[in-house]
Amino acid sequence: MSKVAHYLQEHVMGEVMTSLDARRYFATDASIFAVAPAVIMYPRNENDVRKTARFAWQMAERGRIIPITARGSGTDQSGAAIGSCVIMVFPAHMNRILELDAKTGVVIVEPGVNYGKLQQTLETHGRFFPPYPANLEYSTLGGAVANNTSGAKSLKYGDTRAYVKTLRVVLANGEMIETHKLSKRDLNRKLGLATFEGEIYRAVDTLIEENQKLIAKAGLNVTKNTAGYDLLDVKTKEGFDLTPLIVGSQGTLGLITEISIETEQHNPHTSLLAGFFDDVGKTQEAIMELRALSSMPCAIEMVDGNLLNVVQQVNPNQLKGLLPNPIPKAVLIVEFDDFGDHLQKRLSKRALKVLSKYAYAHEEATSEQDKDKLWKIRHAAATILAQSDNGLKAIPLIDDGVVPVAAYGEFYSKVEQLLQHYHVQVAIWGHAGDANLHARPLLDLSQVGDRQKAIRLMEEYYSIVIGLGGSTSGEHGDGRLRGPFLKHLYGPDMYEVMRKVKEIFDPYNILNPGVKINVTTEDIKPFIRQEYSLGAWYGHMPRS
Ligand SMILES: Cc1cc2nc3c(=O)[nH]c(=O)nc-3n(C[C@H](O)[C@H](O)[C@H](O)COP(=O)(O)OP(=O)(O)OC[C@H]3O[C@@H](n4cnc5c(N)ncnc54)[C@H](O)[C@@H]3O)c2cc1C
Repeated sequence: MSKVAHYLQEHVMGEVMTSLDARRYFATDASIFAVAPAVIMYPRNENDVRKTARFAWQMAERGRIIPITARGSGTDQSGAAIGSCVIMVFPAHMNRILELDAKTGVVIVEPGVNYGKLQQTLETHGRFFPPYPANLEYSTLGGAVANNTSGAKSLKYGDTRAYVKTLRVVLANGEMIETHKLSKRDLNRKLGLATFEGEIYRAVDTLIEENQKLIAKAGLNVTKNTAGYDLLDVKTKEGFDLTPLIVGSQGTLGLITEISIETEQHNPHTSLLAGFFDDVGKTQEAIMELRALSSMPCAIEMVDGNLLNVVQQVNPNQLKGLLPNPIPKAVLIVEFDDFGDHLQKRLSKRALKVLSKYAYAHEEATSEQDKDKLWKIRHAAATILAQSDNGLKAIPLIDDGVVPVAAYGEFYSKVEQLLQHYHVQVAIWGHAGDANLHARPLLDLSQVGDRQKAIRLMEEYYSIVIGLGGSTSGEHGDGRLRGPFLKHLYGPDMYEVMRKVKEIFDPYNILNPGVKINVTTEDIKPFIRQEYSLGAWYGHMPRS
């Protein structure tokens, strides 16, 4: 057993493992990459996290870097939940709901809490946490905060960042800080601290002051964005807050040990409609009109004809009786969750009018059973994720671009053309109302040709997204996969500012190195696995 494991075993309360079996298990997440860790540790409490970070910092001062990667459920699709040395697995012990104020809706949790469990608990109090990902049953809140996760309901409610109030974060040197909105006076106090925390506040404040114009220009015209570091929301008229910077940082700036979030009132009585289109271009017009209704739908979700055709091939009975003939080029699912039956009815009527204008068929679910049937069309994406005929798998490679809503139709057709050009079958679905599309090409990564195609597809896809004024990542994070495209996305000057953020928080590059920042396409090539699988997550519905 390595010296690192020996030290941790002696000093932390949580378990420390180095068995080949465990290392093999934690070598993958839900991305196309594999990196075997040296040590797996299961922190029991914040002190364990602090001791591990402090140890790594002291070793780094002596010239030896011991990278630390935080991990929730490991469902990250960008390769951000794997690393070469210490994997810190939060769900084993640090998984509690610590406080729930049913009146204000504020909840305090440990990062390893299961997202689905939290949501169920909230619903018993008439509340919910809106930016939930499709795979909430098998992911954690820590992972969601670190990725700035969002999902179907983000159309109306926004992303995770919008809901995080405060965080407890262990810094690279083992110090613990609490982030929240600071008044000018509070900020001055922080700026005067003689600690690493003080150093960070001073350096970030100066960085923002010196690069105000660049940072303002880096704001993209998209409804959601988790690419890079969010400096735009740190220093605002309302105060100074490091929270938005930590949210979405994928464990590269600090280790989150406690999260406080706001929640919304939950209305389980929703209205659900579907439109069936013979032309994806027409969905663009429908989406623009649906978004302009007096109250925004809580979801406008899409599956395309490519996806439906693959599902028909794989499971011919799965969608029997649910689709009109011929198979549509796209289906839009539209949901309203406004309180008040009257209001919901009025909105549904207007939405049906929009759908009838652009779709060749439309439908309103009138019972819970009908709603389940409509959602079944959207959830057919699960079949694509699990599909594995002839070695072909749906690969998370170009799965998360988001563009200005007005460019949605163009985005879709350019992506489809790109895949046609390479003769690769693809399925496309996602959060159409946000112009955030998940495209999954079917490739066989054991074939050299497909591995080369994968890199070319990525390069061309991200050029399309950036060319349309979009972001390379709406909700899944940069990780190893999209880190190489950040410089292209934000330009070299803004990228340099983001690199400085990393340097300020993590001067020795201990926290999740090779993720998000300072990573190139050449760096990631050796880590691409030959066989992609969702493996451990088949115990759940692999929803997306
Ligand atoms: C089938 C499928 C569907 C998905 N659907 C969605 C979706 O709808 N929307 C969406 O946004 N994402 C989606 N994802 C991506 C991903 O699952 C989510 O981002 C999820 O929230 C990650 O949670 P996790 O617990 O698995 O985190 P992990 O994968 O374990 O980690 C994710 C990141 O968080 C960091 N991290 C974890 N815990 C901490 C901590 N305590 N401190 C600091 N950093 C930490 C990790 O280092 C890593 O960088 C999907 C993935 C799959 C496989």
